[in-house]
Amino acid sequence: MNQEKMNDLKNWMNTEGIELTYISDPGHIAYFSGYESDPHERVLALFIPLNHEPFLFTPALEIEDAENSSWSYPVYGYLDSENPWQKIADLIQQQGIPKKIATEKEALTVARYDILTQYFTNSDFSANVTPVIEKLQLQKTPDEISKLMAAGDWADVALEIGFKAIAAGVKEQEILAEIEYQLKRKGVRSMSFDTLVLTGKNAASPHGAPGNTAVADGDLVLFDLGVVWNGYCSDVTRTVAYKEPTDFQKEIYNIVLEAQLKAMDAVKPGITAGELDEVARDVISGYGYGEYFNHRLGHGIGTTVHEYPSLITGNDLVIEEGMCFSIEPGIYIPGKVGVRIEDCLHVTKNGCEAFTKTSKDLLVLH
Ligand code: MN
Ligand code: MN
Repeated sequence: MNQEKMNDLKNWMNTEGIELTYISDPGHIAYFSGYESDPHERVLALFIPLNHEPFLFTPALEIEDAENSSWSYPVYGYLDSENPWQKIADLIQQQGIPKKIATEKEALTVARYDILTQYFTNSDFSANVTPVIEKLQLQKTPDEISKLMAAGDWADVALEIGFKAIAAGVKEQEILAEIEYQLKRKGVRSMSFDTLVLTGKNAASPHGAPGNTAVADGDLVLFDLGVVWNGYCSDVTRTVAYKEPTDFQKEIYNIVLEAQLKAMDAVKPGITAGELDEVARDVISGYGYGEYFNHRLGHGIGTTVHEYPSLITGNDLVIEEGMCFSIEPGIYIPGKVGVRIEDCLHVTKNGCEAFTKTSKDLLVLH
């Protein structure tokens, strides 16, 4: 449970005259309550009233798990045979009917919004809490940073397993399966997104899908992966060579590495998200490959793998100590080569510290 951030949220509610905030995104519920769950189509909700105790509302089968989490306020539940919205409305109305209710407009479905407004016909639902939560999540607490560090350690372990699994004739899917199998045996419950292992030309698609392609001599193999650990995500990319790379492959690799290192060096409080993107983009453009770096430099990371902010030219957001995000330039030349190098980091007083430590010198496997 994150009482400090709930207090910050209440300060915002107080300023805006909002009497109740309804949080529906499971990642955001976990962020405030400490209770992690994927409710699928059932209703999982966190209600934070300005002047009363907050409460979690879960499917009945989850009440015990929620009570055993770090959440220390009441948990209410509903059976599959009951109408959850009637129960929610009753619980809220016991505290008085709120005049202004904030919802997560980026997460709440229109169907659920319609139901809610039928129960609270005289309440104002215009306030959107999504951007407020995004801003609260921007600066991580020391406790959150230590969790991100631990998740990063697991990503390093995953890469090591992946590198060892590379051999001539081994398919992308087989390497991926080996990584996830070994991690699960070691106690990792889930990856933070579908693991990418892309070899040769396949790596030229930034979000390609691993398949039956086998590693061949002279391939560059791209790994992009992360784990969820204590509710926090990691995200790392390394590109390695199987057998001696060509001069062209080395050239592309070194340009991406230079861009990644220069951007990491530039990270410090006071620079903007857009300026960081430009540092990396200028390096790649300087070598004439600008058109092949076709995505933003990075994204925030925390309880979800892609959070605010977006590191892209034009974003004036000023970087501050405690912010956590990825630096992940790449060059993708269709049909030829794909290289990306990615670390996530936290901003310190004078610079930054990466969550992942796997070497970035071009690793040549034999
Ligand atoms: Mn990323
Ligand atoms: Mn990634």
